[in-house]
Amino acid sequence: MTDGPVLVLNAGSSSLKYQLVVPGSGEVRTKGLVERIGEDGSDVADHAAAVEQLRRRLVEDGVDLDAVGLRAVGHRVVHGGPDFSDPVVLTDAVVDQIRDLSPLAPLHNPGAVAGIEAARARLAVPHVAVFDTAFFTTLPAAASTYALPRELAEQHRIRRYGMHGTSHRYVSRAVAALVGRPLEELDQVVLHLGNGCSASAVRGGRAVDTSMGLTPLQGLVMGTRSGDVDPGLHSYLHREAGLSVEEVDDLLNKRSGLKGLSGVNDFRQLQELRAGGDEHAALAFDVYVHRLKHYLGAYLVQLGRLDVLTFTAGVGENNAALRAAVVEGLDGLGLSVDAERNGSPGREARVISPDGSPVTVTVVPTNEELEIARQTVALLETGPAG
Ligand code: ADP
Repeated sequence: MTDGPVLVLNAGSSSLKYQLVVPGSGEVRTKGLVERIGEDGSDVADHAAAVEQLRRRLVEDGVDLDAVGLRAVGHRVVHGGPDFSDPVVLTDAVVDQIRDLSPLAPLHNPGAVAGIEAARARLAVPHVAVFDTAFFTTLPAAASTYALPRELAEQHRIRRYGMHGTSHRYVSRAVAALVGRPLEELDQVVLHLGNGCSASAVRGGRAVDTSMGLTPLQGLVMGTRSGDVDPGLHSYLHREAGLSVEEVDDLLNKRSGLKGLSGVNDFRQLQELRAGGDEHAALAFDVYVHRLKHYLGAYLVQLGRLDVLTFTAGVGENNAALRAAVVEGLDGLGLSVDAERNGSPGREARVISPDGSPVTVTVVPTNEELEIARQTVALLETGPAG
């Protein structure tokens, strides 16, 4: 195979993130972000203009897309709904199918579709969609089914889909390489802790449970999202505070989580406030950790045993205090971190539990762009997975 680069695109409603990556070596040729698409006063009118701007920026970086041997474009798509369990080559019909999934991800899929259409019209190479939900299509029915009237759930495609799957997949495979054991033998819990946060239980490389649900709102406490709340909260807020459905949605997605509790959504700022004695920041940290322990405990029991616990994404990769807090008091369950290993900063995948620990605790940097590039090339070389 030629190891030509893959352009990985992550299009939102008003932004286009790009990375030109060589799938084999993982080398990043260039990356960047086109922002403020379609906003007032912006010179980027729409996604078509964003792709043109991306081309110009690449030229400024010394990259001519027509001359680098571009292999393909890999698109990150948040929601694959019930239809897409694997990456797929984008055709007009597939783009229509992704558009039809927009009700399931109104904040994400329309932007992705706009980005796909603009890029397909301008870059004459194969385009592949890689779905954030795909890794979780293996969830057992018992884990993916909400206890709702069956017909209603079927009609509206209501189930637990899970998100961040590209990251959970990449990280759980990287863990096997790090600990030098076959993926098939490992029972793992992966904690992806960025602005959005999710946990997964992975048995033998297949996801068996995850904390996000129909939408990315369920589960862990996040930067601005509440994660789990009593489902009765919605009607309570409607009755008592006069909030509309849209207002509750906005409240739980954008004004809750760490931000709602402490005023800041960035974990570094939270740590500074907490270190300075701010009691709201201290409680926010405690709630965040409590929820993580809740899911860790649940997955320990779902799996029946645990080989590796892994921390990834911005907070998971960089915050030693948070990692220590999650495993604190769990020695009896075989979980602990070595203070020095946990405390030493690093960019590489690494083990932070003591030698001989019953459960290996690791930090593994995620790399969703590389995973998308690799899945894109794998699909084009071997055809759809059987
Ligand atoms: P996203 O989910 O948007 O990809 P990230 O994975 O970059 O976000 O995670 C963002 C979070 O990670 C923020 O709360 C930020 O404070 C935290 N974070 C990022 N880098 C560091 C760092 N070097 N030290 C501590 N926290 C960090």
